[in-house]
Parts: sequence; structure tokens; C-alpha cells
Amino acid sequence: MISPTGIGMTSERTRLRLIERLRQQNIKNESVLDAIFDVPRHVFIDEALAHRAYEDTALPISHGQTISQPWVVAKMTEAVLSEILPEKVLELGTGSGYQAAILGQLVPRVFSVERIDLLTKQARRRFIKLGYRNIRCKTGDGFQGWANEAPFDVIIATAAPKEIPFALLDQLNVGGKMILPVGDTKKQELVAIEKQHEGYQQHQLGEVYFVPLLEGVVR
Ligand code: SAH
Repeated sequence: MISPTGIGMTSERTRLRLIERLRQQNIKNESVLDAIFDVPRHVFIDEALAHRAYEDTALPISHGQTISQPWVVAKMTEAVLSEILPEKVLELGTGSGYQAAILGQLVPRVFSVERIDLLTKQARRRFIKLGYRNIRCKTGDGFQGWANEAPFDVIIATAAPKEIPFALLDQLNVGGKMILPVGDTKKQELVAIEKQHEGYQQHQLGEVYFVPLLEGVVR
């Protein structure tokens, strides 16, 4: 285990406390809880904040972005894992790479797009360091998806567009799901959209708060 910040803050006990809290907050999927226990979240944030890595809070990463709160990651990951295990998942908004790593523990292939090149590079180094061979990431505009690798079984966005980007449904398999926060900085709803043979079905999963999904790439 990589532990650049000392034993105490990354100890089994600290992680178990987080898992207990997630259980209390109604996270039920045992494989999701196992993945959260196993992935060293402190590796995905600045050393100065590493002592808070196993608190159930969002934390700042560089470029004004945030690593999502573990509860939100757990909730979204539960929504990704349906009765049939998805084979290929696309994430929009790599950020620190933490959500992708959790997915990397659970599904065969993860693709992740980030618009800020520096964050993509940092995340890629983390994936290599931790040995995730099933995660690929690139710098790009998530609104475009990852056409060369489509179709996916799931598309998950960890940044919020103002409206549902229906064009991305073209990159989903029939029966596949898109899970994303939708709204502005004041109010967002977590939405799951299932692609059907004709049209789609939509569910609301509750109120959330994410940074906005912005167009264009930052190099
Ligand atoms: N999944 C991340 C959360 C990162 S916050 C984690 O686990 O740490 C959301 C990220 O989405 C930010 O890094 C932001 O730069 C990125 N983002 C915003 N708009 C985007 C877009 N159009 N395409 C790709 N990434 C985008």
C-alpha cells in the first residue's frame, strides 16, 4: 500500500469508520463498499489535505475542481452497477481519478475524459502507480464523449451540464444507462436515463452538488 503521509490517517480503522458511515447513509452494495475500502483516497488528493482523505467530504484538488464526497461516489457507483455488470463505462470529468479508480475495481473497462490536461496527466500517473491497467483516460471535451470507443454500457458524468446532453445517448448501447447531475450552480438533480430500443426512460435520484460541465479543453 502506498502511504506517503504516514500510517495513522490511512489506517484500516480510519477507512472502516468511513465504510460504517456510508452504511448508515444507506449505501448497501457490498462490492461498492469494498472498493471504497480498498482504494487509497489519500493518493488522489494533495498531501496537505491527505489527513482528511477518509472523511466523508468533497475536497479541493487543483484548478478549482473537487474530488467528490465518498457518499456521492458510492451512490453513483451503486447506480452504475445494475443486475447485469456493465462491461465498458465512460466517465466524463476524471478530476483526481478517484471515481474512475473505484469503477476500475468493479468493471472490466473504464474510459475517462477530462477537459483540463494537467489533471488528466496527474490522474494517469496515479492509475499507473496503483496498477490500474483497465482504465484509459484522455484530455477532451466530455460533451463529445469518446466516439472511437463507443458504444458504452454506462456513461457517468461527475460534473453537471445545465441540460441533459441527449447527443451522448448515441454512444450508449440499448439497455445502457447515462447517470449524471443536471442543473445550475444553485440546484442540481442526479438523473439516470436508460436507453431503450425506441426512446429512453428517465429517473431522478435526488439532489446533488457538482462543479459545472464546461465546454472546451484547457491545455
Ligand atoms: N470524478 C472526479 C470529480 C472531479 S470534479 C473525481 O473523482 O475526482 C469534475 C471534473 O470534471 C473537473 O476536473 C472538471 O475539470 C471536469 N470537467 C468539467 N467539464 C468537463 C468536460 N466538458 N469534459 C471533461 N471534463 C470536464
